[in-house]
Amino acid sequence: MENIQLYVNGSFVPAVDGRTFDNVNPFTKEVTNQVAAGDQADVEQACEAADSAFKTGPWGHMPLKERMTYIERIADLIDESVADIAVMESLDTGLPISQTKKMVARAAENFRFYSRMVQTHLHGDAYQVDDAFINYTVYQPLGAVGLITPWNAPFMLTTWKVAPALASGNTVVLKPAELSPLSANKLAQIIDAAGVPKGVFNVVHGYGETAGAALVQNDKVKAISFTGETVTGKTIIKNAADSLKKTSMELGGKSPIIVFDDADFERALDAAVWGIFSFNGERCTANSRLFVHTSIKQTFTEALKKRVDQIKMGDPMDNQTELGPLIDQAHFEKVSRYIEMAEKEGCDVYQGQQPSGTSDGYFVPPTLLLNATNDMRVSQEEIFGPVMSVIEFSTEQDVIDMANAVEYGLAGYVWTNDIKRGHRVAQAVDAGMLWINAQNVRDLRIPFGGMKSSGIGREGGHHAILEFYTEPKAIHVALGDHPIPQFGKHD
Ligand code: NAD
Repeated sequence: MENIQLYVNGSFVPAVDGRTFDNVNPFTKEVTNQVAAGDQADVEQACEAADSAFKTGPWGHMPLKERMTYIERIADLIDESVADIAVMESLDTGLPISQTKKMVARAAENFRFYSRMVQTHLHGDAYQVDDAFINYTVYQPLGAVGLITPWNAPFMLTTWKVAPALASGNTVVLKPAELSPLSANKLAQIIDAAGVPKGVFNVVHGYGETAGAALVQNDKVKAISFTGETVTGKTIIKNAADSLKKTSMELGGKSPIIVFDDADFERALDAAVWGIFSFNGERCTANSRLFVHTSIKQTFTEALKKRVDQIKMGDPMDNQTELGPLIDQAHFEKVSRYIEMAEKEGCDVYQGQQPSGTSDGYFVPPTLLLNATNDMRVSQEEIFGPVMSVIEFSTEQDVIDMANAVEYGLAGYVWTNDIKRGHRVAQAVDAGMLWINAQNVRDLRIPFGGMKSSGIGREGGHHAILEFYTEPKAIHVALGDHPIPQFGKHD
């Protein structure tokens, strides 16, 4: 695999100080390649390029149709590379190839969706004030924006930010997660091949505390869109305060799945298992707290155990693999510590068997924390691995109270065949996104994001372009000679 450079002002370049870091494959623990380690000087160059491309380049003033031909060309080029990008993504993250193929395919749609969205929804309103005024709004791009992304679904989450940012006329400096740089580099190659003018899109690889922090502090950057851990989000908001940057925060979660006794048992089981063990459990909207009604707890738990026994762990490149290794050593240790903690807190820990041939990778078997309670640390803190607390409940009010007794509020899932109860519970759970009798099927038009410690602001739909990547400007026009107070005119 080729070594990776930064992409600044239309060129692939090494870091100013020549430094690099190792990119490690979490399945083999071997070094895949070297990545240029950007720092302050590189971020300054990239921000300068993005700022001047916005102010003096063609991008911001280009006819809309012309800008959209670039956006759609990027989508076409992604389509041509889906298979390659899926392999990169699995190499980098350990996510099973059958899952990365689907995620990557959706990335092209992110660009097409925002091409359509900008053409149909990025418009202002007019406000007639009697015969005296017509006031109207226009939505203008912000300028250079900074995008900071995590490693857990890198290509999908990165394009989810890059597409609306570029389509609405901004220029971009992207700081991808240091643990998953491959697909961000591929995106730079694609955007370069699409002929997007130089400086419009820049990528600075590097660590969060150096490259990421420099991007947050750079005066030329007008806004930061961030997806990652809650604790990092808090640091970024503090650091962005000095330059009063707009920020969008997509943060952690500890989402409940609530299974009532009248639920469709098999479908609820499928959803609970998929919702925690897909994407290696490294999923912001994972249902990491299962609340199951007392009367079906026994049978549901037995069925869960059977599924856990049969989940196929292994090589992420194998199409049959359902669960791959975690992203790196530090994360493996963190998840393992939580499993030890669960035992100390009194859970009955039930795990699938790790197959032979997987001892090299950072594997954690699918894990159920049986007989958990909601107040345990393992039920309160985001573990971000294939680990689910199983908690019983008896009444609707009890389960709503428990679902809400947590710091986070990203997603929630309700399983019941009582239509009134389904809506009631979904409306009572404090989360940005709820699904009733459904797994996490996404509609790109909905506002995506969380409340409480799970985030501030929403991505997706028209929310991203109208509420974040543009600034509304109100223009007031007098239609006649309205009265103007005449200070200082006394003759
Ligand atoms: P992280 O916070 O460790 O890192 C995310 C990004 O921030 C990386 O690019 C990192 O280099 C950068 N960063 C770190 N410190 C920084 C600093 N001081 N200044 C600027 N940038 C900095 O998160 P992660 O471990 O990569 O991702 C996992 C987390 O992301 C989980 O908590 C998960 O729930 C969350 N997530 C949330 C959503 C959502 O939509 N709400 C989606 C996916 C992941």
